[in-house]
Amino acid sequence: MFCPKCGKELPDSSNFCTACGYKIETNNTQQNLENKNSKTVKVVIIRTKKLIGCGIAMKVHIDGNKIGSLKNSESVEIDLPIGEHKLLIETFGEFTDRVLNLTPDINKVTITVVMKMGLVSGSPTIESVKTE
Ligand SMILES: [Zn+2]
Repeated sequence: MFCPKCGKELPDSSNFCTACGYKIETNNTQQNLENKNSKTVKVVIIRTKKLIGCGIAMKVHIDGNKIGSLKNSESVEIDLPIGEHKLLIETFGEFTDRVLNLTPDINKVTITVVMKMGLVSGSPTIESVKTE
């Protein structure tokens, strides 16, 4: 790199210019990295209505913490930091899970879930995951 003040070529790790003493701002890239790490992604989980009168609530857990429960046509949303998060949606004894890999280029994730009915009971199913 070069000193921004006098233009002398310096080792990349320099904190000060050896020629003019100018303080080199080396924390710019570090700051960008921190901003990226502290960025959050809005995650919206929507339960679409498939069955009229299906009153079973789905419990939504992220990283082992319950963040809400969904009945028909309801939604929950949470801001999550960049990284991997485990989404788990459960009803009584039935569950579905998904690892959400939130990268810095994602601003919002919309997850649509639905209750798929079997012969005896229903199980929560992830219908779509849309990132934007
Ligand atoms: Zn200099």
